[in-house]
Amino acid sequence: MPEPVSNVPPRTLRAISEIPLSRLHGVGPAMLDRLALLGIANIGDLVTYYPRRWVDRSKQQPIEHTQADDEVTIVGDVTSIRSSRTRQRRAMVQATVSDGTGSLAVTFFNQAWRARQLSVGTQVALFGKVGVFRGRRQMTNPTVDVLGTTAERRTGVVVPLYPTSEKADLGSGQLSRLIRSALHRIVEFADPVPAAFRKQHGLPDRTWAMNAIHAPSSLADAYRARRRLALDEFLRMQVALVSRRRYYEAHTVGVVCDVDAGLVGSMLERTGFSLTADQSAAIDAIHADMASTVPMGRLLQGDVGSGKTVVAVAAMLRAIESGHQAILMAPTEVLAEQHARGIASLLEGVMLETADNLLGERPLRLALLTNQTPASERKALNAALGRGEIDLVVGTHALLFGDWDYRSLGLVVVDEQHRFGVEQRAALSSRAVPPHQLVMTATPIPRTAAMLIYGDLDRSELRQMPPGRTPIATRLVASDDVGDDAVAQLVRSAVADGHQAYVVCPLVSPSDNIEARDATTTYENLRSGPLTGLSVGLLHGQMSPGDKASAMDGFRTGEIEVLVSTTVIEVGVDVPNATVMVIYDADRFGLSQLHQLRGRVGRGQHSSTCLLVASPQTTTGDKRLQAMVDSSDGFALAEIDLEIRGAGEVFGERQAGISDLKLGRIPRDAALVDLARGLAEEIVGSETGEVGSPQIFEEITDLLGSDQDFLYKA
Ligand code: ADP
Ligand code: MG
Repeated sequence: MPEPVSNVPPRTLRAISEIPLSRLHGVGPAMLDRLALLGIANIGDLVTYYPRRWVDRSKQQPIEHTQADDEVTIVGDVTSIRSSRTRQRRAMVQATVSDGTGSLAVTFFNQAWRARQLSVGTQVALFGKVGVFRGRRQMTNPTVDVLGTTAERRTGVVVPLYPTSEKADLGSGQLSRLIRSALHRIVEFADPVPAAFRKQHGLPDRTWAMNAIHAPSSLADAYRARRRLALDEFLRMQVALVSRRRYYEAHTVGVVCDVDAGLVGSMLERTGFSLTADQSAAIDAIHADMASTVPMGRLLQGDVGSGKTVVAVAAMLRAIESGHQAILMAPTEVLAEQHARGIASLLEGVMLETADNLLGERPLRLALLTNQTPASERKALNAALGRGEIDLVVGTHALLFGDWDYRSLGLVVVDEQHRFGVEQRAALSSRAVPPHQLVMTATPIPRTAAMLIYGDLDRSELRQMPPGRTPIATRLVASDDVGDDAVAQLVRSAVADGHQAYVVCPLVSPSDNIEARDATTTYENLRSGPLTGLSVGLLHGQMSPGDKASAMDGFRTGEIEVLVSTTVIEVGVDVPNATVMVIYDADRFGLSQLHQLRGRVGRGQHSSTCLLVASPQTTTGDKRLQAMVDSSDGFALAEIDLEIRGAGEVFGERQAGISDLKLGRIPRDAALVDLARGLAEEIVGSETGEVGSPQIFEEITDLLGSDQDFLYKA
């Protein structure tokens, strides 16, 4: 590690990014092009190009101690290599690797490029299973990491391995050498994390961490460095989120909704049930938010069936009784229609005081708006909204972003949508008078993940289920004849008891590329085969809106006993008489999605069953399905899902900030997110949202992109 030199001042990442790569020894135009292919355009990019992992050369298995069938990592030098073809004309590359204790024959099939990658003298780490062939130790198609070549022979015991690409034609060893020379040039990094905080939490300073992640003296140091630099990533995101929220609070005057004219109480009375403690707490928090001049930004999380709708209605009624309007947006037409129906029945008989007529009160006025609403009706609706003749609109997302002339929009509720991201929320917030916002999701987002994605929202959780729901038994059967029999038996017996069943398939129609069941064929097969005599219906997204609606209606009224569908029924659909959920090729779905689907049953008093039909080909597929059988807790399943698939997969790479993470990973780094959040709250001015650290301000605008305009520095 270079000794700090006192006459070189600590440098910020921005200052470092201003040093051209060509300053480094041996970096000419050709090298610049190759680095550019890895997304490295300046020295800042170079030093934040982190190792994928490290190999500790002192911890490897000596070749002489390996036994047949051991899975091991071997570190050694290539001592011979040659290419040939097998009798079947397959490319074959044969190498010998020696480590001083012995040698190993390595054979690669169909990997002709290995002959270019490896040459005599290349040091490699091999991971694979040891076999013995004609008395000789050997490995076939092992995983290979190139540690270096003779020219760049390393002294360090721990070797960093960098992600490289064949196209860039840059070895991990070359990258390591370049990065070290950059670090040597930089000498000292300015550290935005206060020394006292570092000390309190056992975090090294940035200079140490940057050197230790690229050239660690032990694996423990490498991990310690990784932790520190991951904290920096989370810190930038959290400062941005906290700042956004505080700035908003300080600079926005919203619609105060603080009138209690008895609407909420009268609606709750009509439901005939008493709220769960979580529902009451959520409603109280929402009403408190809405009474303030600061527009509410709240996330309501609750598993399927936890009763979010009644909470949303309590919020909307508060807006209405305070003299404003409310809208509720659903992701699909089916859901919008269902919500409109459900809400209308909750509001039946709820009267609003008015001076406009002799009775002194009037019923609430609700409108439904979907793609099916004709243009003329829309025009009339818009006029009515402008005059304040409509209290509440239920519709799909896309439509409600149009230019509607509300008389006074007090509240926007967004249902079942974790894809409703920061940008959409920002669009709402930028209205002249921003409405309160309530975002509801049944995809339980682990707290730490929510802190990344919804870090600028307050949260309410419905963890208790309303009474009267019966647990759902989940079973797993193979995709074969036995599985098909189990499906037929289960569905028939449910229908014989007067209940209904869903059958879900991954595809709409047969596909050449994807081997999975499709709803169209399954529908034909079931009704002409195992389910003859039953009333079977079909529902998928490619049907006309009219056909979709009639399938849904048929199922709701019970006329259709078995509904074969795609995941269009995933969210929110509520048919309490359905007690069976069959999911074909269940391994094709994510855990959260499976859990959502399963939540379509178990909504009434009758016991329900979910049958997962699959023969998963991968261990993660296996794990997911087993988790479904073992757990019915959406939050627990969401954690497992995150662990198995990673945040990028679960939420989409483009979701706020996740693609900015190079080192940080959730849920693994949950504790770091918490730590970063705490520090962010100290760094951001509590009154105004200003970012108290110019250096972090700079890093956020440089690294998280230019759409961070709301930030302002002290
Ligand atoms: P979700 O959270 O999935 O949107 P819903 O709001 O659709 O759940 O509620 C599911 C069902 O539970 C509805 O039929 C609703 O009327 C009922 N429900 C909601 N809250 C309660 C409660 N506190 N007690 C009994 N039933 C309730
Ligand atoms: Mg719902």
